[in-house]
Formats: sequence, C-alpha cells, structure tokens
Amino acid sequence: MAEVSLEGLNNHIIRVPTGLFIDNEFVPATGNATLDLENPATAQHLATVSCAQEQDIDRAVQSSQKAFVSWKSALPSTRRQLLSKLADLLERDASDVSTLESLDAGILYNDSTRLNIPQALENLRYFSGWADKVDGMALAIPEGMAYTRREPYGVCAAIVPWNSPLMITIWKLAPCIAAGNTLIIKTPELCPLYGQKLAELVREAGFPPGVINIVCGLGPVAGQRLAEHPVVRKISFTGSPAVGRQILATSARTNLKKVTLELGGKGPSLVFDDADFENALFWTTIGITANNGQICVAGSRIYVQDTIYDKFVQEFSRRSREAVHGDPLLATTTKGPIISARQRDNVLSFVDQGRQAGAKLLHGGEKLPGAGHFIANTAFSDVPQDASIMQQEIFGPFASISSFKTEEEAIAKANDTSYGLSAAVFTSNLDRAFKVTEAIEAGQVTVNIWGTVNANTPFGGVKESGFGRDMGKEALDEWTVPKVVKWYIQKG
Ligand code: NAD
Repeated sequence: MAEVSLEGLNNHIIRVPTGLFIDNEFVPATGNATLDLENPATAQHLATVSCAQEQDIDRAVQSSQKAFVSWKSALPSTRRQLLSKLADLLERDASDVSTLESLDAGILYNDSTRLNIPQALENLRYFSGWADKVDGMALAIPEGMAYTRREPYGVCAAIVPWNSPLMITIWKLAPCIAAGNTLIIKTPELCPLYGQKLAELVREAGFPPGVINIVCGLGPVAGQRLAEHPVVRKISFTGSPAVGRQILATSARTNLKKVTLELGGKGPSLVFDDADFENALFWTTIGITANNGQICVAGSRIYVQDTIYDKFVQEFSRRSREAVHGDPLLATTTKGPIISARQRDNVLSFVDQGRQAGAKLLHGGEKLPGAGHFIANTAFSDVPQDASIMQQEIFGPFASISSFKTEEEAIAKANDTSYGLSAAVFTSNLDRAFKVTEAIEAGQVTVNIWGTVNANTPFGGVKESGFGRDMGKEALDEWTVPKVVKWYIQKG
C-alpha cells in the first residue's frame, strides 16, 4: 500500500495511505493519476496522492451499490456501534488528524484540536444515538390504518470544501450512515490528507467494505461524475454558489437525485449600543479572523449603532492587528495561511474594490512576509451598503463595517443580501433580541455569541445560501425518504 510520511510536532512522523479508499482497500487511480499537494504555510510540496478519474468514481459507486444490499438490513445497533467506534478511534488519533489539517489546509493545530475534532466527535456520537431511532408514525385513515417508514436513499455522495474539511465531512457522514445509506465522500483536492487518515479509521472501526468510500479528485472530474451518476440517489454539497448551482442543474438534467446545498454566506453581526461592549468586540473580532475568515458563517459584515460606532471601530481595529502569523502547528501562532495562492489573490483583489467604493481601509490589505500564503487581517469602515465588499462572500479575514441608527435600519441592512446562512445579534435588551432574531432572514441567528454550532441543532441556509440541513434531527430527515404503507381493513 502506497503511503506518505509527514513530520508533525516534535519530529512525530505520521504515515498516511495515498490511494483511493474503495471497498476498504487503498487503490491507485486509473492511469495512476495523481495530485500534488502543497503546504500553504510554506508553499512547498507536501505530498502526492491518487486523483480519482471518472472510471474510479464509477468503481466507487459500484462498490457502494453492492454494499447497500446488505447494509440496508444491518441491525440499527450495528450502525450505532460502528459510528461510536469511529468516534473512539478519531479521538485516539486526534493529534495526527489535527496535524494533517494544519499541514494540508493551514488550519491552526489548536483550532483543529479544540474545535474541529470535538465537533466531529460530537456529531459521530450524537448520530450514533439516532441510528436505532429512525422511526415512522402510525396514522388513522378511513380505509383502515397507515404507517410511515423512513427509508435510506441508497448510494449517496458528499462533496466537501477545504475550509474545515474534517468537521464538514462528519456532518454528512454521521447522519447518512446512521440512516442506513452507503456513502462516497469526495474530499477537497486542496487538502485531502485528513480524509486519507479517516479512511484508515473507517476500516479499523469495522465498517463493511463499500459502506464508506473516500476518494480525492478534482471537482470538474470526480465531483461532476458523482453529480451526474445515475446510481447516486442523493448528494450533499458544501462549497461555492457557482458549483452548487451546477450540481443542481446536473441533477435536473440526469436522474433528479436529491440535492442539498450549503453555499456560504455574508453573515451580518449587529452590535447595539446596549450590548456588553467587551463581549461584542470579542465575538465580532473572532467572527471574521478565526480560520482567516474562511468559514461559511463568518461575520463578514459588521453593523454598529452610531452612538458607539467610532469607539467600536477603533478598538476592533486595534485587536484585529494583534495576530501572530506563522507555522499553524505552533501554539504561539494565532493566524495561519490562506489555503492557496489563488484564494489569497482573490481575497486581496477586494481591497481595491473597497477603496473604489469609497470605504475607508482601517488596517491590512496586504500580503504578510514569508513564503506561505499569509495576508494581514483586513477591515474597511464606512462601507456603502451596495459595495461589492458588503455584498459578496470574500472568504478571507476581511471585515466590512458600517453604522446604523435604528433597529429597523439594522434589520433592513442585515437582510439586504442574497445570502441567508448565519447572523449574530449583540444586545442586552430581551425584547429587541426576540424581535431582531425573528426578523433576520437566516438559517441561524446567535445572540451575544458568534458562529456556534452544535450536533443537535440544525445548520443550513435560506435564500442563496442553499437548502437542506446538516446536524440536528433535521439532518437525519435529509438522509431518509418517507414511505407510507396503507392497510385496508374490511369492517363488519
Ligand atoms: P468550490 O465550490 O469550487 O469547491 C468545493 C468542492 O466542490 C470541492 O470538493 C470541489 O472539488 C468540488 N467541485 C468543484 N467543482 C465541481 C463540479 N463541477 N462538480 C462537483 N463538484 C465540484 O469552492 P472553492 O473553489 O474551493 O472555493 C471558491 C469559493 O467558494 C470560496 O472563495 C468561497 O467563497 C466559497 N466556499 C464556500 C464554502 C462554504 O463553506 N460555504 C466552502 C469553501 C468555499
């Protein structure tokens, strides 16, 4: 089995298989196609892994289809135990997985161990608990009786982005498998190493061959083949709106597979003058600098009440400049690199757009020294509502700030976007909190905190942020389809 050795903290060596994980085996891609990976903190070559071609996706689908025949009748307790075992193994190897996320995706090791891994574990354990509770309902009908069953779709696919790859993979894997489906995961081509390690754990946990296949490949090749494949019955996608639309169109053109889409956002944070100022500053700063703003729920638009605007802007800017950039493996680093040179340049291209729109550059807007793809935390104040930096998802550490006078104005500005994923409200007024959270068009609104996600709460968007939910009982419903069975009962 081909593998690559990578060096983590304290010269610790991690060995990761490089092949495609199909039928519980690591296999080369057709024609030995490979993909070179880069460490974004150094811009140096990191590893070479197999790169799935269309034929490999077909092979993975065939394997999933075969596995579904017996997996669909596996005891619910078997699914529960296997998910739970996977959680235990991930917990055991958490340090290695976090190291891989750091080396490959530039995620801070500390963030991965403190946020991504616990989130993944929480989801695996939460949905393992649901595996034997996928129940239907008994219903009275005039002809006799009826009951519903929630059945798995069969062969499903998950297409995962690069920003928090492990966590987002598990958001999809855990409910999909708990519900009795088989799953093909296409890992992001920029950072698939976490998936190669996860595949080893899937095999060690004892999942039957083909229940979970994990393949790395390019979006337009491997992702596209999954989207058009006639045997795949459901696809769950997280990523850019452009690709989400393409997947939906492909489904419409082919077998009408069920599609769920999580397409990011342009999250508003509303700071009222009655808020705990320190708390609001803390969360709004974290909200756009954590993971370099490469988070779909990033609080990238900050609206502050005019009475505290100047003070807020000054303090926000001071704090945002305190970041220490460098090796994401080190505990002293608070800011890692952007995932790629392309993404870095894309983020920086918005700096000129901000200036041209007449907004005021508070700080940042430039590359940071070093070979890796580092950029400074960046913020503009006095940003016009129609500026591109106020409307488009930048997916970088880039805040757009402006003021409001009234509650109505704050709500109107928050909703003036094509997105609707997540929003945050900072206030100590209970009535206001109720009113504003109800008025905001988003799948999630947090009060006096930013961006928190929990395994038992549904997560997803409205408007052009997409549809469908990860996490919560609602996610289980997304991976099952109701069937009603009706019995005619002859009376008398
Ligand atoms: P992307 O949408 O291109 O990629 C996400 C996933 O989709 C990857 O696994 C990719 O291989 C796959 N993919 C790409 N083309 C495909 C196709 N034709 N068919 C099927 N799958 C395909 O995102 P990106 O290029 O990595 O990032 C671009 C922008 O997307 C970012 O700047 C950001 O705004 C947004 N984004 C959002 C999220 C989010 O969480 N909502 C995550 C990542 C990126």
